[in-house]
Amino acid sequence: MTKRIWSRWFSTSLAAIAFVLLSALALSPAAKAPLRVLVVTGGHDYPTSFYTLFEGYDDITWHHATSNHEAFKSGLREKFDALVLYDMSTEISEEEKKNLVEFLESNKGLVVLHHAILDYPQWEWWWRDVVGGKYLTKPAGGMPASTYLHDQEILVEPAAPHPILSSIERLRIQDETYKGMWISPKVTVLLKTNNPTSDSAVAWVSPYEKSRVVYVQLGHGESAHRHPGYRRLVHNAILWSAGKLGPKEK
Ligand SMILES: [Zn+2]
Repeated sequence: MTKRIWSRWFSTSLAAIAFVLLSALALSPAAKAPLRVLVVTGGHDYPTSFYTLFEGYDDITWHHATSNHEAFKSGLREKFDALVLYDMSTEISEEEKKNLVEFLESNKGLVVLHHAILDYPQWEWWWRDVVGGKYLTKPAGGMPASTYLHDQEILVEPAAPHPILSSIERLRIQDETYKGMWISPKVTVLLKTNNPTSDSAVAWVSPYEKSRVVYVQLGHGESAHRHPGYRRLVHNAILWSAGKLGPKEK
């Protein structure tokens, strides 16, 4: 090949490669854009190690609302792809409810972590149909109050194959347990334990159909937040809830 032909061949190839790359980018902007996650706290203490759960990934960007009132403003549905709740809130205005319901009816993602299962005990639709479980702060419906115990050594195992559990086999984790919660018979249990101070189900997918909803009981403190398996679990749950992991359907 002469120098000129070689040079022409080279520039043509380069242009072709550039064209293919640019076309791929143009065809799939949504696939490349990081998920927009809103993390909601407030009403319960937590160590700042919690924030590390959302750091170190290029497929999510996260924003922080320090209360549910700050979180559930108008525009919630347009601004975010997934919600992560780590708050403990009882009060919610009708306007905030409306924004939250609109978000959930738009095929979005919801990940409820640890003490956020105590949110809105008076809003039955919320805990029964959306979250699929309730921590009972007092006896209700013939059930005694739920209990908690800190600093438990918990061995957690997958209960069923699921995209959220990809690269997760079993976890040994130091964390707080909850026992005696009301758990909907319609949930799909993801993780289970036989720790006697805990309910068997420690993570599940709720039966709610308009968005993908995941509850993870684990996550009280630093020993969970910095656990590689827990990090993977929460990251996978966020991706799956937003339709970015596994098949589109549940
Ligand atoms: Zn806790």
